[in-house]
Formats: sequence, structure tokens, C-alpha cells
Amino acid sequence: MNMQIARRRFRDFMSVQRDNPELLKAQYRAFTRQMPMMYFILLTSSWALAMTHMKLAPPWLTVGVPTLLTFGCLLRVFFWYRTRNFDPTPELAYFALLRTNRLAGGIAVAFTLWSFALVPYGDAYTRSHVAFYMAITVISCIFCLMYLRSAAFIVTLIVNGAFIAFFISTAQPTFVAIAVNVFLVCTGMMSILLTNYRNFESMVVSKQRSDALSAENFRLANLDSLTGLANRRAFFAQLEAELEKARANGQRLALGVMDIDGFKPVNDLYGHSVGDRLLVEVANRLSGLLKASTAFRLGGDEFAIIAPVPPEDDELVSNANAISAQLKEAYQMPEGMIHVSASMGIAVFPDLALSREQLFDRADYALYHAKNKRRGGAVLFNADHAKQINCDAKVESLLKQADLEKELSVVFQPIVDIRDHATIGFEALARWDSPALGRVSPARFIPIAERAGMVGTLTRPLLRKALNAAFEWDPSLRLAFNLSAHDLNSSEGLLGVIDIILSSGFDPRRLDLEITETAFTHDFEQVTQSVETLRRLGCGISLDDFGTGYSSLTRLHALPLTKFKIDRSFVTNLHQRPASYKIVKSLLTLSADMGLDCVIEGVETEDELTAIGALGGTSVQGYLFSPPLPADQVVEFAARNGRRPCKIAV
Ligand code: C2E
Ligand code: CA
Ligand code: CA
Repeated sequence: MNMQIARRRFRDFMSVQRDNPELLKAQYRAFTRQMPMMYFILLTSSWALAMTHMKLAPPWLTVGVPTLLTFGCLLRVFFWYRTRNFDPTPELAYFALLRTNRLAGGIAVAFTLWSFALVPYGDAYTRSHVAFYMAITVISCIFCLMYLRSAAFIVTLIVNGAFIAFFISTAQPTFVAIAVNVFLVCTGMMSILLTNYRNFESMVVSKQRSDALSAENFRLANLDSLTGLANRRAFFAQLEAELEKARANGQRLALGVMDIDGFKPVNDLYGHSVGDRLLVEVANRLSGLLKASTAFRLGGDEFAIIAPVPPEDDELVSNANAISAQLKEAYQMPEGMIHVSASMGIAVFPDLALSREQLFDRADYALYHAKNKRRGGAVLFNADHAKQINCDAKVESLLKQADLEKELSVVFQPIVDIRDHATIGFEALARWDSPALGRVSPARFIPIAERAGMVGTLTRPLLRKALNAAFEWDPSLRLAFNLSAHDLNSSEGLLGVIDIILSSGFDPRRLDLEITETAFTHDFEQVTQSVETLRRLGCGISLDDFGTGYSSLTRLHALPLTKFKIDRSFVTNLHQRPASYKIVKSLLTLSADMGLDCVIEGVETEDELTAIGALGGTSVQGYLFSPPLPADQVVEFAARNGRRPCKIAV
């Protein structure tokens, strides 16, 4: 039994191991470099030996056999040389090494027999040459065959076995001494060879492990751990790669960026774990609709889709709308059905975006439009958007150069109590008279100033001017002033506002600061804190454009509000639009329940006013009463204390 095991081990030891493909490939690669060198040394030393025997031995031995052996060796050299830059399959490497293993024995026997055949023809010198040739050549062959342990052993056994046996059998003391010497050298070399081979083997295995580990690290670094989609880092890398490909092949490339509408309220209402599960569901639906490699999670509730070689624009948008429609289907959760939608912005290379950054920025710009105008649908970045970006850049640069004290002013729009037509107060609205552009609407320049991070420099002169004008009014009149999120999400901005209010001499209790719902989505904690500070100062806080910002009720209750302002979009023709009518009705009920005042904006017609009156609304603002007025007409309007129908848009 032991004998059997030993035999099997010996057989394994002397054959090529097939179980590690990477080892096979590494051995093969080492051989392509070392084999030509081995044959070169073998052939030059053999021809040197043949030369020293040229006149002594018959030509078939000194020319015939070496020529034959040279021919065979050159064939092998040619084989190894030809495959030197080749990346072999494990299969191919195995068979090449197996062939080498087999040929090693044959070649060793052939060269050994040939050198023995020369021994009888010479004198002591030439015999020493044969001994030297056999001993030294085999050493170099063993070195070259180092990475194929079995072949090195076969060659050593055959050449040295025969050499030692032959030279000891001559009983010639010098040859016996050489034989002993060679035996010891070879034993030492074999043990070094075994160690080296083991090192080689473990080096290949550890490289294999570290390759696998770094591949795994790479995979994890590019994966979003929550949803399993590729992450933001992978997104930018792939976008760059796909863009390169599209450039090289002259093809188009579409990028879609997507945002889940109504995700924040889900998080607020049900908690983060439900929010997380919703994101996983969204990701699953998305990857079910697309090839996995093309969907990414950029962070939060933002996703992206890369579409190489997209269809024509119309089809592209309708595909994107189909994706949005699928994502809009209700999500079945243990907590109940959850409804959200997905807005998407798309930009296409090279149509209107040439670089990676431009593609991303423009898809994001289109997303912003989708969110505002086609919520739950897709918007393709178009030439009008590009024009708009250019105009915005122009407005921004003029705004930066403007003499704000001189060019900015405020106008005042009355807020009226419809029961007795008494003026409650006025809302201050910014106006910018640019020498280059003429009068610019705040709806245009305020968002640009917000994006450019310079709205604070506008707020300060505007608030100062509004308070200065209001200081002159009857003390019964209130002043409403619009603040931006940016005025409230830094302590510097807040302190600036407080400083202006306190130094104006205007009673803060007569001041209502208007903030839109979206202001709270920027930095809820910080904005809420700022608002609380302003409340403590005595200012009222109105939630502007109420109804458009998808606030959750829990959130609203947490805010220190004093007033709602129902957005104009629900007021226009509300008597003819049942949906608007219902919304205004429920918003009025909500404000009453919360004990808050409610101003209804944008009232333009008698019919609207009648409908509002029927719903119990009392405070209104709109062109029906007055457009925004210059400061010097405010006192006169308030003194008249009555309706002044006016339908001129200003
Ligand atoms: P807003 O706060 O909702 O202001 C009401 C807007 O509706 C004003 O536009 C007003 O002129 C307009 N409006 C009033 N009644 C009617 C009506 O019956 N029909 C129609 N169609 N429109 C009416 P305006 O003055 O162009 O201001 C636009 C927006 O710019 C404001 O919307 C506000 O969000 C922002 N804004 C204005 N002034 C300032 C300011 O000083 N600071 C900040 N941060 N934003 C401001
Ligand atoms: Ca307002
Ligand atoms: Ca408003």
C-alpha cells in the first residue's frame, strides 16, 4: 500500500501539474524566455565538443549526429520563440509543458549517448572535455528548466546518472573524483531547485490571491451597498469610457439622470428604513427594465442611466417616459402602498453636450425642468435650454457687476381683507433696473442669484429699502418680505437679516417673512433653527407658494409658522376647476385647523374672489385689487381702504 502511494507521489512529482491554471500559464511564460537560451547553450557547447573531436572521431559522430540534434533543437527554439508574446490558455500551456517534459528525457538521452560515443576516440584532454561538457551543460539546463520541476529532474537523473555511473566504472581516480564532485553539486542544486520551485509556486498563488482580492475591492468600491447598483464612482468612470467609445465610433450617447419625486415625505413619514427599502425596490424595477450595467445610483434618491447608441429623440423620450411610468406604479410595503414618481432629465452627446461634465450638467438641468414642469416624466435637454443657460450666464455676470444700491428697488402689493376691503399690509417685491437689460423680473434674477450664491448681497439692500419705506406707514399695516433659503442656511446670512431689522426701527412684530416650502428642503435643521430665532424676535413667518412643495404634514407641524400663502396656480379659475377648488378648500381647512392665517395669492377676477369668499377665505392678494405699487403710492392706497379693480399686469 505504502509502495503504491510512494509510486503515485513519484509519478505526480515527475509529471506536469494540471490543477492550477495560473501556475501553468506562469510556467509557460517563463519557458518562452528560457528555452531558447537553454538550446543556445546546449548547441554551442555541443558544437565545441564536436570540434575538439573533429580529427579524432568519424564524421557521422562529429558532424552527422550534431547536425541532426541541432535541427531538432532549432525546431523547438522556433516554437518557443514564436509564442513568446502569447497569452496562453491553461489548456495550451499544459500541453506545451507536457511535450517539454517528454522531450526533456529524449533530448537528455540523445546528447548523453552522443557524448559517450565520443569518449573512446580521444586522449585524456578530450575525455576531460567530454566530462566537463556533460557536467557543466547539465547544470545550465537544470537552471533553465527550473520552473518545470519534473523536466529538470528527468534531465538530471538521465545525464548525471549515466555520467556518474560511467566515470566511476572507469576506475580512473580523476574521473571518480569528478563523478563524486558532480554528484554532490547536483544534489545541492536539486535541493535549491526544489526550494525555488516551491517559492515560485507560492508566489503565483499569492499573486492570484491578491489579484482576486483587488478585483473584489474594485467591485465593492464601485457598488452601491444599499441597492446593489453600480455607484457614483462607477458611473463617472463608465460615462467617460462610453463617451470615449462614442467619440471613436462617431456614435451618439444618451445620459438620463433621475430623481424620485416625493421621496423625502416617505422618509419623514415612515422613517429611513422604509425609505431605504423603497430605494431598493426602485433600483430593482430599474435594473429589471434595463441592462444592469447601465443603471447607477448616484446617491440619495438620485439615479442615472447611460444609454449607448440611443434611438432618435422622440423614441428616446418615450422610452424614458415608459421607465418613469413603470416606476410610478404603487410600491407594496408592509406599511401600506407607497406612491412616488420619477422625473428624468436627458442629455445627448454630441447633440448639445460635448464633454462628460457638460453631459451631466445638462441632463441635470433638464431634470430640474422635469421636476418643475413634467413631474414624473422625462425632459430632453434642448436648444431652448442651451439658450436659457447662455442668457442666465449673461444675467449672472451683469448682476455681479451691478450697483445694487442704485439698481435695486422694491414695490409693494397690497394684501386685503375681503370682508371689509381693508388693507392688511403690503408684500415687498424686488425690482432690478439693469442699465443693460432694462427691468428684470425677480422670478428671473432671484433664482440666478441663488444658484450663484449671491442672493445675500441682494437681500440686504432690498430689506433695508422695504423697511425704510414701511417705517413711514400707518402702524396698523404689516410688511411682508420674501427671504431665500440661502438667507437662512448660514448664521452669517441670518445675522445680516436680524441686524437690518433691528437697526431699521421697524417693529419686528409687524413684519412677516415669507419663505417657500422648498427652502426647507435645502437644510431642514438649519433653516428651522433660523426661523425659530426670527420668531423669537417677534417676526411672523409665512409659508409662501403653499401647496406646490409637497411638504409632509409632520414637517409642517414642526415649523414655527404664523401664516400660509396659497399659491396662485390653485387660484386661477378655481371656480371652473374642481381640482383647484378642492385643493384651496382643503388648504384653508388645514390652516384653520392649525390656527394659522391664510393669504390667497394671485386673485385676478371677481369670479375667483366670489369662490374664495364662499370657501371662507379672508385675506387675498392679486391684480384684482392692485398690482405691486411704487413706494409713494402705498400710503394713498391704504388710505382709500377699498377695492380698486385693476387688471394691468406689472
Ligand atoms: P411671490 O413671492 O409668490 O410673489 C408674488 C408674485 O406674483 C409677484 O411677482 C407678483 O407681482 C405676482 N402677482 C401678484 N398678484 C398677481 C396676480 O393677480 N396675477 C399674476 N399673474 N401675478 C401676480 P414678482 O414680483 O415678479 O415676483 C416673483 C417672485 O420673485 C416672488 O414670488 C418671489 O418668490 C420672488 N421675489 C420677489 N421679490 C423678492 C425678494 O425681495 N427676495 C426674494 N428672495 N425673492 C423675491
Ligand atoms: Ca411671496
Ligand atoms: Ca407666493
